[in-house]
Parts: sequence; C-alpha cells; structure tokens
Amino acid sequence: MGRLILEYLDGNRIYVCKKCRIHLTNFQNRISKNFKGGTGQAYLFDLGINYHVGLPVDKDLLTGKHTVQDLMCNGCCEIIGWKYIKAFRESEKYKEGKIIIEKYFIEKIKWK
Ligand SMILES: [Zn+2]
Repeated sequence: MGRLILEYLDGNRIYVCKKCRIHLTNFQNRISKNFKGGTGQAYLFDLGINYHVGLPVDKDLLTGKHTVQDLMCNGCCEIIGWKYIKAFRESEKYKEGKIIIEKYFIEKIKWK
C-alpha cells in the first residue's frame, strides 16, 4: 500500500468529511447549493481534494443523461457524492468535470 498523502486547502471556510474530518473542498469552490442526492441537498463544487472515483456509468438524472463516477472520501472510503464526466444535454455541459458532494456527508468548519 502506498502512503496516504493528505492535502490541505487555503481559505477559512473548509468543507470536511463528517465521518473522518478530512478536508474535501472549500467555500470558494462552491458553485451551487441547488442539487439533490440520495440523502437530500447536495452542493456542486468546482474542485475538491482527498477523494477518489469509481468506474464511469451512464445515469438518467432529472436533468437528462449523464456519465458520472461515484466519489469516495480518501479518509473513510464512504461514497459522498459523484463526479460529472459527461453531460449529454448542451444546457448541462457546465457540470462536466465538476463534483457533487451531498450535504449529509460534509460539515463546514472555520480553519485558521
Ligand atoms: Zn471521510
């Protein structure tokens, strides 16, 4: 097994994994709060850290067909959201490469 290297983010409002407290993303990277996941409200982020992804799968979502990957926390391996790889509708293309994290799995903390 390789050594787990943890990264840290700048900024003073950080989103951490509720279960293992690892840093996942920050307030500056949050694009939208108007998303829904299996547990309820979910946030769209420009980027995050300390996560890994599963295999790409095609899913029919409320906003049409998308290719997505499960998003897993590097600290506890819990599935916390998903990553958009491809959106089939033109209007949804802005989500490609961005990540969703469900609010249920994260907590906003003050850092520094
Ligand atoms: Zn975790």
